[in-house]
Amino acid sequence: MSRENTVRIDELTWIEVKALLDRGVRRFILPVGTLEPHGTHLPLGTDTIAPYAIALEVARRVNALVLPPIYYGVTKSLAGYPGAVRIEPSILKEYVYSILKYMALHGFKEAVIMNGHGGREQVEALDKAAFRIWQEYHIPVLIINWWSLARERGITQKFLSKEGGHGGSDETAVIYSVAPHLVKKHLYDENQILVYSSSIIAYPIEGTIINYSDKEGGVLFDETKSKKYFNMLVNEIAKVVDEYFQKVSFK
Ligand SMILES: [Zn+2]
Repeated sequence: MSRENTVRIDELTWIEVKALLDRGVRRFILPVGTLEPHGTHLPLGTDTIAPYAIALEVARRVNALVLPPIYYGVTKSLAGYPGAVRIEPSILKEYVYSILKYMALHGFKEAVIMNGHGGREQVEALDKAAFRIWQEYHIPVLIINWWSLARERGITQKFLSKEGGHGGSDETAVIYSVAPHLVKKHLYDENQILVYSSSIIAYPIEGTIINYSDKEGGVLFDETKSKKYFNMLVNEIAKVVDEYFQKVSFK
């Protein structure tokens, strides 16, 4: 009964999870984020709210369950701002490993990590946890950096006419689609924008909207375009997930 209503494993009883396993459901998605600033217009939880919302929509399309998200991650350059929290990469790695391990022990066979935070240390920690699970349990693990996939496949450009960036038009569009009340346009400040440069490293960094190029400009606030973007994004990610597990079904 609940399967029709929810894809959230935390809303199911153990007997419902057992029934799903008996019926062949083998796939799950773990959303992972961090707590850090995103301009002055998006919430600190953006890196978790976004991948969690994406995971819930993707799960409905690919017959997966969604695990409770991890709200804390490896914040670094923005760790100095009020409300930001950093946990060490080694902790995130072990934490994610433990979660995936238990899903494996229960009989789940296909793991997706929906990542919302692009820091190098976070991506490396997830990478290590995923590879260890593959080696020890022979469960294929797919890590998706959603904003990066959206940019690479032209979705961000097509729907938002932007490339996106940290705290930029892409993250704003997802929050606009799933929790519009959390987009505080009246607090938006263009002085927060800085263009990423590999030649400058600073702690804390002096802006909380980080663009990839100087052509990007300000953040787009458009609820209609945002919803279309979000819809295309989840469809594309669902396709990636399905295709991936089909291709590795030789395992
Ligand atoms: Zn973010």
